[in-house]
Amino acid sequence: MIIDSHTHIGKFPLFNVESSADSLISVMDEWKISTSITFSLPNRLTLEGVRKFPDRFVGLVWINPHKGQKAIEEIDLAITEWGFKGIKMHPLIDSYLVDQEIVYPIMDLAKKHRVPVLFHCGHPPWSLPWHFANLADVYPDVTIIMGHMGHGHIVYVNGAIDVASAHENIILETSGMPMHSKIKEAAERVGVNRVIFGSDSPFGHPSFEMQKVKVSGLNRDQVDLILGENTKTIFKL
Ligand SMILES: [Zn+2]
Repeated sequence: MIIDSHTHIGKFPLFNVESSADSLISVMDEWKISTSITFSLPNRLTLEGVRKFPDRFVGLVWINPHKGQKAIEEIDLAITEWGFKGIKMHPLIDSYLVDQEIVYPIMDLAKKHRVPVLFHCGHPPWSLPWHFANLADVYPDVTIIMGHMGHGHIVYVNGAIDVASAHENIILETSGMPMHSKIKEAAERVGVNRVIFGSDSPFGHPSFEMQKVKVSGLNRDQVDLILGENTKTIFKL
């Protein structure tokens, strides 16, 4: 069972790519991915995909904490009425630090609903790994996923592994991080149950993102955990 923990539906002119719920399902079928966690703006677009393919997509609600009360209402609606299973946050695009107090009301709701929060991680000035340590200290009982686990920069990737190894509530997600060897290191230092595969489709592709995990040097059972079992457990699927 393979679960992709990081996908998007929509048009992204900045990257010159687009994907629909149907095209994402085609990619999933080709690469034998049973389920994808998906999140996009507007959140209604994610909802349409989840409603069209309820057995294949799991939605996360994309939240900008600068929206204040509206963000709170969006989370409650998405989790309680739409059946979404978590929250997605993008500190780089929406301009806040991961450990700023503006994030706290969102974390309070994640705690109340017992859902994970997946953050983009790996770009200065807003989403570097060390800020996650502060947030994880304030919210030790909320599951925090570091999307891209530091992304392309070796100092940030090492920082992500360091921070996660010191905080049991942090999970590392592998998309966009180029070094297969760092997946093995993360599994050994952080714990094989706290590393999850993502493709970041349509910006990335499951073909090479899965291959990164498979050639990382881990054994078959460990690879299976990272490619799906862990995400199933973390999102209670
Ligand atoms: Zn993404």
